[in-house]
Amino acid sequence: MINKIKGTYDILPDEVAKWQEIEDSIQNVSKLFNFKEIRTPIFEYSELFHRGVGETTDIVKKETYDFKDRGDRSVTLRPEGTASVVRSVIENKLYASANQPLKLYYQGPMFRYERPQKGRYRQFRQFGAEALGSNSPLIDAEIINYAATFLEALRIKNITIKINSLGDALSKEQYKRKLQEYLEPNIEELCSDCNRRYKENPLRVLDCKVDKDNPILKEAPKPLDYLTEEAKYHFEQVIEALDAIGLNYVIDKSLVRGLDYYTHTVFEIDANNMESLGAQATLVGGGRYNNLVESLDGPDIPAVGFAFGMERLLLALESVDKPVVDPFIHCFMIALGDEVQGDALRIVNDLRHGGLTCDYDFFNKNLKGKFKQAERLNPMFLLIYGEEEAKDMVVNVKDTRNGVQETIPLANLYHYIVSHINTQGSSCSGNCSDCDEC
Ligand code: AMP
Repeated sequence: MINKIKGTYDILPDEVAKWQEIEDSIQNVSKLFNFKEIRTPIFEYSELFHRGVGETTDIVKKETYDFKDRGDRSVTLRPEGTASVVRSVIENKLYASANQPLKLYYQGPMFRYERPQKGRYRQFRQFGAEALGSNSPLIDAEIINYAATFLEALRIKNITIKINSLGDALSKEQYKRKLQEYLEPNIEELCSDCNRRYKENPLRVLDCKVDKDNPILKEAPKPLDYLTEEAKYHFEQVIEALDAIGLNYVIDKSLVRGLDYYTHTVFEIDANNMESLGAQATLVGGGRYNNLVESLDGPDIPAVGFAFGMERLLLALESVDKPVVDPFIHCFMIALGDEVQGDALRIVNDLRHGGLTCDYDFFNKNLKGKFKQAERLNPMFLLIYGEEEAKDMVVNVKDTRNGVQETIPLANLYHYIVSHINTQGSSCSGNCSDCDEC
């Protein structure tokens, strides 16, 4: 038997509804914020991620799926979505569009060679959004609000929004030097990765999963204390906008994000009830990345965005009370006798064309078998159709929710069912002209 690759998973039919709920919310909330979907390839030239995500990041150093294609080109399965979106914006000159800022969202699989555990996979899905072309702090707040509104739409309420600022390029440079000076005398007490990171990209040391509780890191200088006046003003404006919207947040001075490209605002939203999962409690991470577009040979345009891990959303959804969902199947046809099979199929087909979900016994089981199958599928209505019914041009319809069974003329069948879907079996037969539905 061939098994799935480590760190991947199948989404089985019974689990698909939960994914569809997340996917529907992505579309609905993105529409509210007027973000448009973009779909980019799953693999790109490796150089895009090396330059876009950063040579010194864990993702590029240790986690990418890189391979040579048959033309000896280095290609990489995308480990995240932002670099691809930016590549596409540059290549298709979307930055020249009249509608600014450019507001885009995406969703789909990403690939990272990480140690699989609950909430961490090698193939996982992200929903991300990017707003390109505006340096306004209002759009930083808008992006955070978009992420929070999406969680609200999924009824995930027990969350903490954490924000921080890394400042502009100058603030980051000043801070990096300070941090290196601070870390140097104690660096041997930190893990081997931190020893490497502190030279290449000291900010990443603060993001270390191994040493996160080490007092050396806890007491390290914080980016907020090294902001230029301009960067400080930007951050204050973001906070004012979040206050105006009425979002609750905390300023987390130690928050830095794992990717190289962030400037100014960075944020994360954690699920409070997933604390036991540690770093895996982070549902979404994002922030401003003003230098990325230019560093990928595009024009000098600022941008801000986020990326949700969709598996984490699924975990967070486990503790959300859900309304009872209607049974998925509207009708199940029980056709009795070989002569009526064709007619019965046509009836089912007509109902489907009217938007009703219908199923059928394709094994031509005996009566008991047919009822058993119907029971398993749990339809709202059982349609019973035999030779007698065919002669009288009627169908016996049983509303399985209240057990009421009625004989309905074929010509009224569709109307009868549609008018009874939401009525839990009223006594109307579909053309009474007195009830609310008729
Ligand atoms: P990042 O692209 O690293 O900023 O991650 C953004 C979000 O993607 C995280 O907050 C997680 O929710 C999710 N994520 C990142 N890596 C993984 C992974 N290996 N498995 C599942 N979700 C992930």
